[in-house]
Amino acid sequence: MKDDQRTATPAEPGFTTRAIHHAYDPYAGEGSLNPPLYLSSTYTFPTVEDGAARFAGEQAGYVYSRVGNPTTVLLEQRIANLEGAEAALATASGMGATTSLLWTLLQPGDEVIADKTLYGCTFGFLNHGLAKFGVKITHLDLTVPENLERAISSNTKVVFFESPANPNMRLVDIAAISAIAHRYQARVIVDNTYCTPYLQRPIELGADYVVHSATKYLGGHGDLIAGMIVGPKESLDQVRFYGIKDMTGAVMSSQDAFLVLRGLKTLALRMHRHSENALGLAQFLSAHKKVAACHYPGLDSFPQAALAQRQMKLSGGMLAFELKGGIEAGRRFMNALQLITRAVSLGDTESLAQHPASMTHSFYTPEQRQEHLISEGLVRISAGLEDLPDLLADVEQALAAA
Ligand SMILES: *Cc1c(COP(=O)(O)O)cnc(C)c1O
Repeated sequence: MKDDQRTATPAEPGFTTRAIHHAYDPYAGEGSLNPPLYLSSTYTFPTVEDGAARFAGEQAGYVYSRVGNPTTVLLEQRIANLEGAEAALATASGMGATTSLLWTLLQPGDEVIADKTLYGCTFGFLNHGLAKFGVKITHLDLTVPENLERAISSNTKVVFFESPANPNMRLVDIAAISAIAHRYQARVIVDNTYCTPYLQRPIELGADYVVHSATKYLGGHGDLIAGMIVGPKESLDQVRFYGIKDMTGAVMSSQDAFLVLRGLKTLALRMHRHSENALGLAQFLSAHKKVAACHYPGLDSFPQAALAQRQMKLSGGMLAFELKGGIEAGRRFMNALQLITRAVSLGDTESLAQHPASMTHSFYTPEQRQEHLISEGLVRISAGLEDLPDLLADVEQALAAA
């Protein structure tokens, strides 16, 4: 797969160097190795004229932390750089990122085309939130770009998807979808939570915006809730001064920004280990007699392996597999786990397992689960950073109990 510097100009440092150093000069402050954590809700103006100039956007400087805080702004600069984008905006959660962006971009009467498989709360926001205010929501299988070609119209303002999609790992061809959307002036938003900019950079592939749940791999340690929006500067200024400031108020706290900055320093190292562990688990599971299918982009048997190679640097830390014994086998497997933790969320140092039919998607009917491509025996694993032999031993004994 591709090398770390594929987007770098010759003078630009590699991904991890930028993840550790970009936009922070210790000597601009007190020489502190770590960037300062600014715990301040508000900022003082030397004179009332300075205050007026800052409000008018004519003078650089901070006003109030709902629109900007120096620790949070450093995180924004770093994420924008790592995603290869003009700008980024930190939000209170992944849902805060998606809602603040879409409330800014859309008007009643507009259409959003979204993939069939979405993070559950994103699905809820589109269909129960935006739809209530006159936005039309259409779900398509975007793994087949021709489906978009057939459905898109000049009314379509946004095309939204995840790749890989949660929880069944289907991939969407970001370049192909973006090319179609742009012929109709629709904006493409990719939820890049599963990959992080280390594995996949949608904007370089043609997408307009990226959203993240920074709760997951970017933070990386299961100790915060946070989100990011990445995209063109002018548009993100609108999201900052309208979407967040006036509509959602979903601003990231500077303490969380500090922790995400810390998480970024080890992001590349962690993604390698997550991917290695996930591949080891996927290989073991796909060969096991109780497993009907294992979905992981790094397996040769993965139907979209060629797209994974093209679009992703590594295959990532997420995998899903289907037990032949259906919902009961899924429950028995889950209850037998001893090391891998029964929990939703993902991207943490601890390996986590969840059974959609009895957890995240338990409120769907079996028919609805089928329609959304979630089988009764599907188990999702977020491979953590533990030693692979220990993870394999746990999965083996839990499968024996399934
Ligand atoms: C967790 C998650 C979200 C929501 O993020 P929060 O930080 O929990 O609000 C959105 N998309 C994906 C793919 C996620 O995994």
